[in-house]
Amino acid sequence: MDMSWADGVTRVAVLTGAGISTDSGIPDYRGPDGVWTRDPSLVDAFTYQSFMADADVRARFWRTYAGHPAWTARPNAAHRALADLERGGFAVRVLTQNVDGLHQKAGSSPRKVLELHGSIRETVCTGCGARTPTAIDGADGDRRCAACGGILKLGVVMFGEHLDPDTVGLAERIASHSELMLVVGSSLQVEPVASLCAVAVNGGNRLVIVNRDPTPYDSLATAVVREPIGTVVPRICAALSGGGGSSSANEAVPGLPGR
Ligand code: ZN
Repeated sequence: MDMSWADGVTRVAVLTGAGISTDSGIPDYRGPDGVWTRDPSLVDAFTYQSFMADADVRARFWRTYAGHPAWTARPNAAHRALADLERGGFAVRVLTQNVDGLHQKAGSSPRKVLELHGSIRETVCTGCGARTPTAIDGADGDRRCAACGGILKLGVVMFGEHLDPDTVGLAERIASHSELMLVVGSSLQVEPVASLCAVAVNGGNRLVIVNRDPTPYDSLATAVVREPIGTVVPRICAALSGGGGSSSANEAVPGLPGR
């Protein structure tokens, strides 16, 4: 495969979706074996308004999450390759739609990973806003805040909820300041990931999409790669570390902590 688009790139923003974690045993949402495909009724349990309105829905939500493979999943070759690229001194920012924490488990610095949809490791009180580590204690009923009695929810963005505007703003700055936007395993069907690709392209940056299925942004991409993520991402990372990644790449993006 021609990877000349990797030449001269010193800063990469990697936008990852469910497709990067399927090799780790975490099903995607909309694919043939996806969570929503297999049980469309679960969408209700993952909708903020239904969740807040009904204790039975909340119990169903927590029950579903207690058995989520993300708690025990291990990073795969693609997560590890991205972590290794950062460890080698390359300027890598990961913008992820995933809530599984596998980039951090693979060794990516937590401050270099922006979790657009939040994380399952954190539980948030809808009453007082307190954030606590998610308890994985097998309790599958409704959960309440020890401090204020408010309804607890997982620290992930549910249907019907807005993304944190600060997080989205930061993601846009990263997209516009990276010479390459590498999309891995996202069908680019939902916001804000779709507009992040637009930000990258409008900023004159390269867009490369690694995804099994076509996306709405394929026609704008410098390259579209259909090869399996687990083998092609390590090759792309090798091409990047061989062709760019000078130390001058580590200038901080405005609003971001430096390296
Ligand atoms: Zn509270």
